[in-house]
Amino acid sequence: MARELDQRVDRVQRLQEARDALASLLASSIASDLQARERGADTSADDDDFVDLAQEVAIQEDREAVLDVLRRDMRAFDHAWQRAEAGTYGICEDCGEGISAERLEFVPEATLCVACQARRERAWFGAS
Ligand SMILES: [Zn+2]
Repeated sequence: MARELDQRVDRVQRLQEARDALASLLASSIASDLQARERGADTSADDDDFVDLAQEVAIQEDREAVLDVLRRDMRAFDHAWQRAEAGTYGICEDCGEGISAERLEFVPEATLCVACQARRERAWFGAS
């Protein structure tokens, strides 16, 4: 029993570390995004700068895609963290069974077991 508790504390710590790492990554991505926007605002768009501008737009779109992914991950971590605080971290939200240690190792923010995750994905993607 004590060992189980140790493992749980361990997992929550790992969740927190992963979340902190993601939070600082997100913060620095937002900071560099803002800097890039300021630089972009300073540059007046001349006609011969069109290629540069197109490139800049493409880079900007990439950056926004990356930020979107980071923000989504952050929400998943926040959600998992709320469950940790409620003492239900590592328990599947759908079926109430324990999520395997292996899964939590690779996906610390997981709040669904593999079976329930797969079932939800099938529902989301509307497989017949
Ligand atoms: Zn489940």
